[in-house]
Amino acid sequence: MNSPLLLVNIGQLLTLRADSPQPGPRRGAALKELGIIPEGAVLCLGGKIVSVGTTKDALRDPWLKKNRKKVAEIDCGGKVVLPGFVDSHTHPAFVNPRLVDFEKRIEGVSYEEIAAAGGGIRSSLDAVRKAPKALLAEKVLAALREMAAHGTTTVEAKSGYGLTLESELKSLEAIRAAASLWPGTVFPTLLGAHVVPKEFQSCSQKYVEIVCKEMIPQVARRRLAQFVDVFCDKGAFTPEETEQIFEAARHHGLSVRAHVGQLSETTLGPFLRFDPASFDHMDHVSDGDISLLVQRDTVATLVPGANYFLGLKDYPDARRLIDASVPVALATDYNPGTSPTVSMPMAMSLACTHMKMSPSEAVAASTINGAWALRLAERKGSIEVGKDADLAVFGVHDYREIPYWFGASHCEMTILSGEMRTKG
Ligand SMILES: [Zn+2]
Repeated sequence: MNSPLLLVNIGQLLTLRADSPQPGPRRGAALKELGIIPEGAVLCLGGKIVSVGTTKDALRDPWLKKNRKKVAEIDCGGKVVLPGFVDSHTHPAFVNPRLVDFEKRIEGVSYEEIAAAGGGIRSSLDAVRKAPKALLAEKVLAALREMAAHGTTTVEAKSGYGLTLESELKSLEAIRAAASLWPGTVFPTLLGAHVVPKEFQSCSQKYVEIVCKEMIPQVARRRLAQFVDVFCDKGAFTPEETEQIFEAARHHGLSVRAHVGQLSETTLGPFLRFDPASFDHMDHVSDGDISLLVQRDTVATLVPGANYFLGLKDYPDARRLIDASVPVALATDYNPGTSPTVSMPMAMSLACTHMKMSPSEAVAASTINGAWALRLAERKGSIEVGKDADLAVFGVHDYREIPYWFGASHCEMTILSGEMRTKG
């Protein structure tokens, strides 16, 4: 068990506690509620948060007075503390950066054209299929450590660059191995349905059968993933194939999420019966589908890093979603082709500058709603008694500086399940 940890003299403690608690993820005006305690303090014990309040009250606490010597005390010197970020959409199981695609795109070649010429997701497959599991695990662990250095304490990690039974299982095993060496929390997702591999191009149904009848049952039996994800879009999987894969996931007790509306509008209605935890990207979405999401806990996870890195003019219309009361989360979409960033503060900055989200909305979308997007809100995403001791300390005096100083990490410390990690 970790020794008790007390953070005091926190200039702004962003608890993310709601002023007017409502069940489910944050929507509408509630997305702005950060529950800020000035001059705050947090006490962590056994990897959990046991007390949250002001520094003055914490220092008067009888238990603390008696046990002060046993407690590791961190003087935050007026800085900002918030819940560790929940990065609810990442693809860390890859080997190499995609530098050729990067250059081609700069020359004006589109995402679809690069994919059609053998670049894109398919070009990452060879290296992952050949890679020993230990090498993949090393890559994943390096990414997790970088993420923690930027304030992230919980990560959803997808497979999806192997696309054979063997290499998808290997990718998930590598994610598990990396997660066991990292004090944060990792939620693995099977993304066997990332793209149809070349060898099945003219018979995608055969590949869907492999996903449904081989990958999903094995992953479920070996508890290698909590979620099954499908890339349902132009050039990837059809809505019918997606439903078929979701059906198999449900049959084997796995929850579902999907990449939708990145390249073209995807009709979401038929997927709702599977109660997806999240619909991700959502660049293109109809008014009808927005009204379907208003009543549900399915989170719209926006990943502006992909729009930025693809050099797109347009970004997901966050205001339209938030103002309609759809719950919105932010994530990095960390991946080698379209969003090679581990930085949640960068995603937040893009959300503010390009999607007109306020800094407070960006914080809530990166913490509590990220937790909802992973169905983890009872443990993660806010600083409240009983939740996991996942915190980030930023070397700034106002939380709005987190998205403001873009391109540099001001995260000075992360606490992951009560374990401290400092910069450098
Ligand atoms: Zn993705």
